[in-house]
Amino acid sequence: MKEQDWPSQLRQRGMRVTRQRLAVLEAVGSQPHQPAEGVHAAVAETLPEITVQSIYTVLHDLTAKELIRRFDPPGAAACYETRTEDNHHHAICTSCGRIEDVDCVHGEAPCLEAPASLGMQIDVADVVFRGVCADCRHRPA
Ligand SMILES: [Zn+2]
Ligand SMILES: [Zn+2]
Ligand SMILES: [Zn+2]
Repeated sequence: MKEQDWPSQLRQRGMRVTRQRLAVLEAVGSQPHQPAEGVHAAVAETLPEITVQSIYTVLHDLTAKELIRRFDPPGAAACYETRTEDNHHHAICTSCGRIEDVDCVHGEAPCLEAPASLGMQIDVADVVFRGVCADCRHRPA
């Protein structure tokens, strides 16, 4: 994972550099695909007074500025990551729920073509891979 200069990334987007924002970016960057509760637990280690509600607010602001990407796994809580720019996809293990990144062959959205007869301008095609991960397959029944 590449080192990020979060203070300058925040400033580039016209956002104030705050301890909360930096802590959230660090937490999400070091452990991608975490739900807000997981981010809160990680951030609370350095900022014990922070509430889950403030975590949601910070995540929302950072997502709006595309410093964080939100991913909604079907049937599970939204999770967050700092890998925002490559339109990558996700593979979800239906047994243990782990989420892995899958590079997008195309590299930019949308990577599937909708038929022209649809008449919509498509921005994104969500691709979610579902299956059973290697650990779960090899676990004795
Ligand atoms: Zn699994
Ligand atoms: Zn991802
Ligand atoms: Zn793709």
